[in-house]
Amino acid sequence: MKIQIDPSITEELQRHGLRPTRARQLILALIEKDNQHYTPEEMLVQLNALGERLSIATLYQNLAKLVDKGLLVKFVGLDGEYRYDCNKTPHHHLICRSCGRIVDVVVKQSLDTIMPRPVDPRAGQPLQPGWKIVQRRVDFIGVCPDCSQQTEEN
Ligand SMILES: [Zn+2]
Ligand SMILES: [Zn+2]
Repeated sequence: MKIQIDPSITEELQRHGLRPTRARQLILALIEKDNQHYTPEEMLVQLNALGERLSIATLYQNLAKLVDKGLLVKFVGLDGEYRYDCNKTPHHHLICRSCGRIVDVVVKQSLDTIMPRPVDPRAGQPLQPGWKIVQRRVDFIGVCPDCSQQTEEN
């Protein structure tokens, strides 16, 4: 099976001032296909399975470029690995603690009123105040429907 490059991907790259190279097209097509949040290693496995060869160096180089130009968002997953997200609209993540699947979620409530207070657990007192909050992001941890079903069957 070959990976489909939608014309919109080529346009998106050009709109952001990037040459639509095969590597960039593949990366975007792969991530956008199922709105995945892959690590670079997971991308290589997927691309290999599709018969597409990319070196890890080329992959990293292009991921950095795509993040730099705002086509992808880089974040650290629960496993501490860097992951890449094509959804640029504000959203949060719901993560399955069994299989690690990540889905995008929105919350109706505004997080603007939530004020985090930095603390040092050793000192038992607040840390230096004066932090300016520029973004509020929360992770929800759960068990996905597939994993819940499996537990019930066992
Ligand atoms: Zn799961
Ligand atoms: Zn996301």
